[in-house]
Amino acid sequence: MTTTLITGANKGIGLETARRLVAAGHSVHLGARDPARGAAAAERVGASFLPLDVTDDASVAAAARTLEECVGHLDVLVNNAGITGALKEPADLTVEDLKQVYETNLFGPFRVTQAFLPLLRKSAAPAMVNVSSGLGSLAIAEAPEHYTSMLPAYYPSLGYNSSKAALNMLTAQYAKAFPDIVCNVVDPGWTATDLNGHRGVQTVEEGADIVVRVALRGGEGPTGGFHGNSGPVPW
Ligand code: NDP
Repeated sequence: MTTTLITGANKGIGLETARRLVAAGHSVHLGARDPARGAAAAERVGASFLPLDVTDDASVAAAARTLEECVGHLDVLVNNAGITGALKEPADLTVEDLKQVYETNLFGPFRVTQAFLPLLRKSAAPAMVNVSSGLGSLAIAEAPEHYTSMLPAYYPSLGYNSSKAALNMLTAQYAKAFPDIVCNVVDPGWTATDLNGHRGVQTVEEGADIVVRVALRGGEGPTGGFHGNSGPVPW
């Protein structure tokens, strides 16, 4: 049975991904920072709850130890946890604003990947799926008319966009550095969740589609790509 960890999976796209991967036969460890909401969400979809705050070294190390003790390996890591951070005009942003969003969206996946790498390496076919955004694409920022992920035309989210652009490069580098692990980033598309005050135009079921598809390909699929629901996303 494929063992999968999804971070930030107590609601939204992460929870829907957990539900679908459980239905597909994965043994899903549902990571969440809030014990009560995490445990309730895991029970709802038939996953195992794993306490995990991606901004906290001790929490991430404890989660890796728990998985090591109870399973001994990890097949698919889905770095899904994310926040928008401060939504302000660029001139009004502070270093603290950027640090806050990078801590979750960039250092979070980095921290979790470092901690779980030894467990991924014990899998016969390991994979990493990093949940990014079309807002992190330089090509789309340059020519949004060439992409139809239904993104808002302009969003005052410099911190968020740049954290996702950095996550894209982190993943592209991982794909080269770890030829033994299939590493990809995905863009769920503009989805109605708490993250954007439910202003997105897709349902969570639609948003989770590409995350689920790439997670199900696991260690068998191509590596180093940026995937959206309607095909490759330009970097
Ligand atoms: P939600 O706000 O519904 O879910 C985000 C999840 O991340 C929550 O479970 C939240 O937990 C968790 N989280 C936040 N910070 C931490 C942390 N420090 N440790 C652990 N978990 C944390 O948003 P979405 O489902 O929309 O977002 C999921 C991913 O999809 C994000 O990476 C987002 O950037 C990406 N995405 C979303 C799009 C959209 O339109 N919705 C578009 C493109 C990408 P808690 O409940 O405790 O806050």
